[in-house]
Amino acid sequence: MKLKQIIIVMVYLIVSLKIGVAQTKLDLMIDHPIQSEKRYELMKSYAKAHYGLDHANLINPQMIVIHYSAIATLKQTLAAFESDNISKSRNRLASYGDVNVGTHYVVDQDGTIYSLLPTTLMARHVIGFNHTAIAIENVASDQGKLTDEQIRSNALLVDMLAKKHPSIRYMIGHLEYMNQTMPHFELFKENIKEYEPSIKIDPGFAFMRRLRNHLRVQYNLKL
Ligand SMILES: [Zn+2]
Repeated sequence: MKLKQIIIVMVYLIVSLKIGVAQTKLDLMIDHPIQSEKRYELMKSYAKAHYGLDHANLINPQMIVIHYSAIATLKQTLAAFESDNISKSRNRLASYGDVNVGTHYVVDQDGTIYSLLPTTLMARHVIGFNHTAIAIENVASDQGKLTDEQIRSNALLVDMLAKKHPSIRYMIGHLEYMNQTMPHFELFKENIKEYEPSIKIDPGFAFMRRLRNHLRVQYNLKL
């Protein structure tokens, strides 16, 4: 009888341990909210000026945009998104809207995922598509610093988002946003003609190739 009890306890412990090990970076996601009423109002003004919309809600998002932060550390990356207002030092951006740049998620170098904004709200991260695009920012000073853990966590997030929002049809790297030969470009919208999109290099073609491959192989997802 005693042996039987020991076996039951052992089996229980092994099962618990296995469940523990199976926890993904999604289960371990950390909340780091940056939303405020002020940010919403500023984003709403941006949405009005650039998209002719009277709100800053992300309704039926149709794409995901992958970025890297061009900042070496998690702490500084998170700090860059915290203010509601854009820094006056970012002259060009500041003249086309007061709302700070934002992101829905930040993925650290070890793959830890931080949630900054709900995917029901717009963030300012990609000219021409903020009205319909969810943002994932990866902590890295340049593309050579991106990690395998970030590939895995980006894929986990994209798979989760694609299930949560069946409206999602495209995933692009920021550097692909102005590529008019890609199907996502039909969603481009910008009412201020002088607001010229700049050339972006994040997160690099290699990262996008690897992420797409991982999504296809591990999740049977073609984006
Ligand atoms: Zn970017």
